[in-house]
Amino acid sequence: MMTSLAHVDADVHQAITREIDRQQHRLILIASENVASQAVMGAQGSLMTNKYAEGYPGRRYYGGCANVDTVERLAIERAKQLFGADHVNVQPHSGSSANMAAYLSVLKPGDPILGMDLPNGGHLTHGHPVNFSGILFQSSSYGVDRNTQLIDYDAVERIAKECRPRMIVVGASAYARTLDFERFRAIATSVGAYLLADIAHIAGLVAVGLHPSPIPHADFVTTTTHKTLRGPRGGIIMCRQEFAKAVDKIVFPGLQGGPLMHVIAAKAVALKEAQSPDFRAYQQRVLTNAKTLAGELRQRGYTIVSGDTDTHLFLVDLSPKGVTGKEAESALDASGITVNKNTIPYDKQPPAVASGIRLGTPIVSSRGMGPSEMTVIAALIDQVIENADDATVHETVRTEIQSLCGKFPTYDH
Ligand SMILES: *Cc1c(COP(=O)(O)O)cnc(C)c1O
Repeated sequence: MMTSLAHVDADVHQAITREIDRQQHRLILIASENVASQAVMGAQGSLMTNKYAEGYPGRRYYGGCANVDTVERLAIERAKQLFGADHVNVQPHSGSSANMAAYLSVLKPGDPILGMDLPNGGHLTHGHPVNFSGILFQSSSYGVDRNTQLIDYDAVERIAKECRPRMIVVGASAYARTLDFERFRAIATSVGAYLLADIAHIAGLVAVGLHPSPIPHADFVTTTTHKTLRGPRGGIIMCRQEFAKAVDKIVFPGLQGGPLMHVIAAKAVALKEAQSPDFRAYQQRVLTNAKTLAGELRQRGYTIVSGDTDTHLFLVDLSPKGVTGKEAESALDASGITVNKNTIPYDKQPPAVASGIRLGTPIVSSRGMGPSEMTVIAALIDQVIENADDATVHETVRTEIQSLCGKFPTYDH
């Protein structure tokens, strides 16, 4: 396939070749990214991209859907089994699309919603003013306690009683600690709101029981398939049976046209992989690695936001080090380490500068790295941040990162 691409479009071929090199030779600690298997990419790169299949298995608006029906049914059944959900829709093109569908399945524009705000670790789609969720709905937000940096559940309850949301969203992109879905259910019930749990980040951990599941508590559960779940880029909605019809109807014809059948085929493959003992061992490694990396950095004098992590990610507050998130991101980048700058709760810096960085272990764990590599990585990160302006140090670290990456291929061939 790559050979024909090289003939047809040398520019795109070259960019992909360079991207293979980047993913192989750089140490990527972006918490939202992962390494999909060759089997997943095989399905995603297949000719199922050619097929129109508006509708649902057995009820399509096009002929010739037998094979795509097979893969969509497999994806649905596997997601149901893996998460214990009543009903699953595997058609959302992304996590954001899944959230939009979850809201609009039961809400009307103008309805009040309550979600975690972005600077405290929430996601744009949880009611941020620049996002459809803040444009379409009347949104209010909750955050974390200034001292503990943990979600203040009493405050969530108080805010919910004030703003009387029709939907409460629990879930985050930059919150490292266990989410208490049961408490959120109680708060939602007390104000007559629906509960949406967005497990985009932690789905892999939830799938194997390393984070409590929201399924028993939430009316709707949305996730991406490409973060810890390690599938193709996409989204999934799960819901109680009573919302099944509303969810399916809002995804299609409400919000989307033809489903991405090649991506749904790849979702089916990823969900099969997620049922294997290997995947459980992988998620355990992700968690152990995150705890080890956070612990090693803490020992070296770094401030971990909220003190620790219960998941695959954590935030480092660099303000005591006198380095901004932006400076750290760029110094680490020059040293072969890819991270993202991230605001910390109650950040004094604007988002484009930020006081922190967000680190996550899904990719390094997929590559087979373990706790001893995390110790090495913590020491290298420390060297770079302590010498954020020193290009010679960055060059030395880069050589070490290259050799570490050489020992842990992203793909076998
Ligand atoms: C990543 C993420 C999303 C959005 O996923 P996209 O596929 O990028 O649209 C939604 N919610 C949370 C909490 C996320 O972290």
